[in-house]
Amino acid sequence: FVHQLADPAVGTELLLRSPLQPALVPGQPAPVALYGPGRANSRGLDLAVPEQRAPLLAAVAGAAVPPVAEASAADVAAAMDRLQAGFDAWSTQPVTERAAIVARAGQLLEAQMARFCGLLAAEAGKTLGDAVAEVREAVDFCRYYAQQAAEKLQPIALPGPTGESNALRLHGRGVFVCISPWNFPLAIFAGQVVAALVTGNAVAAKPAEQTPGVAAAFTALLHEAGVPADALALLHGPGETVGAQLVAHPATAGVCFTGSTQVAKLIQRSLAAGDGAIVPLIAETGGLNAMVVDSSALPEQVVDAVVQSAFRSAGQRCSALRLLCLHERIAEPVIAMLQGALAELRLGAAGDVATDVGPVIDAEAHAHLSRAVTRLEASARLLGRTPMEARWAATHIAPVAFEIGAVEDLQQEVFGPVLHVVRWGGDVTALVARINRLGYGLTLGVQTRIDSRALQIAAQARVGNVYINRNMVGAVVGVQPFGGEGLSGTGPKAGGPHYLYRFCAEQTLTINT
Ligand code: GLU
Repeated sequence: FVHQLADPAVGTELLLRSPLQPALVPGQPAPVALYGPGRANSRGLDLAVPEQRAPLLAAVAGAAVPPVAEASAADVAAAMDRLQAGFDAWSTQPVTERAAIVARAGQLLEAQMARFCGLLAAEAGKTLGDAVAEVREAVDFCRYYAQQAAEKLQPIALPGPTGESNALRLHGRGVFVCISPWNFPLAIFAGQVVAALVTGNAVAAKPAEQTPGVAAAFTALLHEAGVPADALALLHGPGETVGAQLVAHPATAGVCFTGSTQVAKLIQRSLAAGDGAIVPLIAETGGLNAMVVDSSALPEQVVDAVVQSAFRSAGQRCSALRLLCLHERIAEPVIAMLQGALAELRLGAAGDVATDVGPVIDAEAHAHLSRAVTRLEASARLLGRTPMEARWAATHIAPVAFEIGAVEDLQQEVFGPVLHVVRWGGDVTALVARINRLGYGLTLGVQTRIDSRALQIAAQARVGNVYINRNMVGAVVGVQPFGGEGLSGTGPKAGGPHYLYRFCAEQTLTINT
C-alpha cells in the first residue's frame, strides 16, 4: 500500500511495513484456548451471519432481569461468619479441584452465551457486539485462571545448602471481598471472583448496584459448577453501606476493587484504619488515556482507532481514549476525517446488532455527562458530533469531540463518548512527559510509522498498556494483561501471569530430614 507521507522531514526513517508487528504478535499459541476478541473463530459466533445472530437477538428480546434483594447489615454480618467457617474446607481442597470447578463454570457460561447476552443488553445497555465480546472475555477468565492456578499454585521444592527439605507453598488468604463495576458486569465480576476462588479464598462479592442481575446469574453458575455455598456469598447494595461494611469487617483478608480512583482511596483508608491485619488491596481504577499521533501516522488508521477507542461502548471503559494528541502537521486531515466518522456513527437501542453507540448506564450518568458536555461547549472548540434523534436524547450521549488548549486542561475522567483533542509540535518526549504528569497510567495509544519512535514513547510512558498503530481497548485475557499504575491502580494485571499470586499468602515449609 502506498500512502502520502504527511511529514517529508521524517521520510528517511519511514518504514511502510512495520517490523514491530511480528515481534509484538509472536505466532505462539495462547497457553489455553481463548476466544479473544475476534468476530468469528472456530468456536465463536459471527454476527454478520443471520442464522448465528438470530438466537442472540431472540434472547435479547426475551431477556428479563430477575429482581434482587439488597443485603441488610445483618445479612452482611451473617455472610461473613458463614464464609469464615467455609474458608478452611475450600482452601485445603487440592487446587486442581478448585480449578476444575472454575473451568466447569466457564463451560456452563459458554453454553449459555445467548442468555447472558440478553441479560447484558437488558441490564447494562450493551450492544450485541459488546455483549458477545464480554461473555467471551468472562469465559476466557475462567479458562485462563483455572489453567494458571493448576500450573502456578503447586508447591515449589527449593533444594539448597541447608541440608533440610525446603518448599514454598501458596494458599488462600481468607475471606476476599470483590467489588466490581457496572461497565463490565459479567467479565470483571467473573474475573475477580474466579481469581479469588481458585486461589483458595472464600469470597464476598459486591457487584455494582446498577447491574446485580448479571452478577446473580453468574453466581448461580458458579454454585452449579461446584462452588460450595459457604465459599461464595453475593451481597447486593450500595458501596457506601454494603461495600463499606465488607471492607471494614475484621474477617476481610483482601480486597479486589475495580471502579473510580476516589473510591479506591476510600477503601485504602478504611483498610488502614482497621485494628486488625494488614489487608492487601488490588485496585483497578480510571484513566486519562491519551493517543499520541505523530506526523507520519496514517489518518485512516488513526480515525478508525479513535472511533473504536473513544466511542465504542459509549466510552464507558476505563481503557477508553480521552485525549487525542495530534501533531500539528497532521491535525487538519485527521480532524476532517474524524468529523466524517462522527457524522456516520449510529446511535441505537441496546442489543441491536446495527447500533454503534448504545445508551449510557443510567440517568445519573446521563446527567453527569450532559453537564460535562455543556461545560466543554462553553470552554472548548466543538469539532464534531454524531447527530441524535430526539427519541435517544434522554438515554444516550451523542459522541462528540472538542479541541482543548493543552494536555493539562483535562484533569477529570469523563466516563462517556466525549473526546478531547489537542495539537502538539516540537519534541514528542516533552509531550509524553506532560501526559505522564497527569498522574494516571492505564492505556496509551501511539500512531506512527517510525518504529524507533513508537518504542521510545512506550519506554517513556508510565502506563500499563501501550497500543501501537491500533485501537486501545479490549485487552485480551492471557495475551494482553490489563491494568495500570499511579492513579490508575495497584496492579497486578488482570488476565496476566502474575495476577493470582496477589490473592495468595506464601508459606515456606522447612523439614529437618
Ligand atoms: N479490560 C477492558 C479493556 O481493555 C477495560 C476494563 C474496564 O473498563 O474496566 O478495554
